[in-house]
Amino acid sequence: MIYAFDPAPVPSLAVQGSDARFPVRWVYCIGHNYAAHTVEMGGDPDREAPFFFQKNPDDLDQSGEFPYPAKSSDVHHEVEMLVALKSGGTDIAPADALGHVFGYAVALDMTRRDLQGEAKEARRPWEIGKAFARSAPCGPVVPVEGIGHPASGLVSLHVNETMRQRGDLDRMIWKVPEMIAYLSEYFTLAAGDVILSGTPSGVAAVARGDRMVAAIEGIGTLDVRVV
Ligand code: MN
Repeated sequence: MIYAFDPAPVPSLAVQGSDARFPVRWVYCIGHNYAAHTVEMGGDPDREAPFFFQKNPDDLDQSGEFPYPAKSSDVHHEVEMLVALKSGGTDIAPADALGHVFGYAVALDMTRRDLQGEAKEARRPWEIGKAFARSAPCGPVVPVEGIGHPASGLVSLHVNETMRQRGDLDRMIWKVPEMIAYLSEYFTLAAGDVILSGTPSGVAAVARGDRMVAAIEGIGTLDVRVV
């Protein structure tokens, strides 16, 4: 194979307890997967199903620093569980879905809320608010072998020691098997795909210098400085 120029490196994530990295293919994100967050964003959870959008594979970032992005003055945190797949397919039955999961991580779906709001208003796509460089800080992928499949447990986010977000994995509208089954009806999922599974309520703005500490019971803690 000869390329016209050197290709970008394969985006990958550190795996807890292993030197082998998790190579990332596609990044799916679930929107409005906790009713309380749907309400705080002005929606009606009884009338709206969750939905999905995407970020770019190299938006995932494990540096521990989140550079405040350009063109926004209202950047919000969203703490989310990341689901990492080791295999995929189409039309995956919910009962088979967990067999495709490699592991889980604590992640943040950082959002330029002002730009996302303008896009919503104009009925435009969300990438300008969601899919910017380093918009998805995350911790190491923790393999299923060590922790199983967390289905309940505290999801929290502190900013400078103050709790901003608090939820529980058992409050997700689409549980992990359902999000995998849903996505596999529309796309062929594959090894390396990851899913950010949606955020509980309490999303709010960050400022340069803030320290964000995200935690999910049974998975771990993620400590990120806004720079
Ligand atoms: Mn989100």
